[in-house]
Amino acid sequence: MEDVDLNVVVKWSGREFVIQYGPNDTVFDLKNFIYTQTKVKPERQKLLNLKFKGKTPEETCNLSSLKLKSGFKIMMMGSLEEEIEKVNSEPEGMPEVVNDLDIEDEEVAIENQEIYLAKIEKRIKEYEVKILNEFRPNKKLLVLDIDYTLFDHRSSAETGNELMRPYLHEFLTSAYEDYEIVIWSATSMKWIEEKMRLLGVSTHGSYKIAFYLDSSAMISVHIPKYGVLDVKPLGVIWGKFPQFSPKNTIMFDDIRRNFLMNPKNGLKIRPFRLAHLNRSTDTELLKLAQYLKILAENCDDFSSVNHRHWETYKPKRKRYH
Ligand SMILES: [Mg+2]
Repeated sequence: MEDVDLNVVVKWSGREFVIQYGPNDTVFDLKNFIYTQTKVKPERQKLLNLKFKGKTPEETCNLSSLKLKSGFKIMMMGSLEEEIEKVNSEPEGMPEVVNDLDIEDEEVAIENQEIYLAKIEKRIKEYEVKILNEFRPNKKLLVLDIDYTLFDHRSSAETGNELMRPYLHEFLTSAYEDYEIVIWSATSMKWIEEKMRLLGVSTHGSYKIAFYLDSSAMISVHIPKYGVLDVKPLGVIWGKFPQFSPKNTIMFDDIRRNFLMNPKNGLKIRPFRLAHLNRSTDTELLKLAQYLKILAENCDDFSSVNHRHWETYKPKRKRYH
């Protein structure tokens, strides 16, 4: 018999693990191999895109019947025991984990540096946007991050719904009335599509996503204090679709540096983490749906508003003569 290289790549928590398996191994065996490399217990592993006839395979299912290509990438969700332990013992009202920089205004000057404008020009020319749904006239633009903005991608769960930020569909339905919605995530297009399918976003009947952008639409910038950072420049979208501009665009992301190139058009959303603990109390998307409505109805220039204070924003009263 031919010697076939049987392996898959498990993508978990931002890392990749190559897992070798034998011709007679089952899903159960695979989970144990994954355990030895990641220390995530088999019962906590959720292998998102491992499918047999369109369904999650039984643990007794033989891997050979799944017809996996060598190097097939499996997206895994699952938490380590020590993390679960930590979450369970964490006191209520703990502060947000801070892994973000708080960008000061002087650093924002990079916005207009020519080297970055040139990179954006290159993206405008070379990055291909696949339009999923045609634009409607006179809509504003909402650009959304996925991880920790719409979805807790680190906790373990049986279904995408358990990790979905509460009110996601209500939020998108409301936003869609006034905005074209774009998803921009610092991962590959394959994972974006997979996540959107998992969350039921790509097939929802009450709203439609205009298009997705992935990590290759991002650019890297150098900031002396922090080093090289990958960011999501809205200029790529504005260059491709001139009906959108700083006046009618807003971007939500849990990481402020992602909108380093467009600080006036970014809103830092509180990250949605620890889905199991926070699912019953997180109302961020409900409140933000309101904010988007107020902006759409009252604001002619989104970049003139300080989105840091979105919760207390009062529109200027319109004058009637
Ligand atoms: Mg995020």
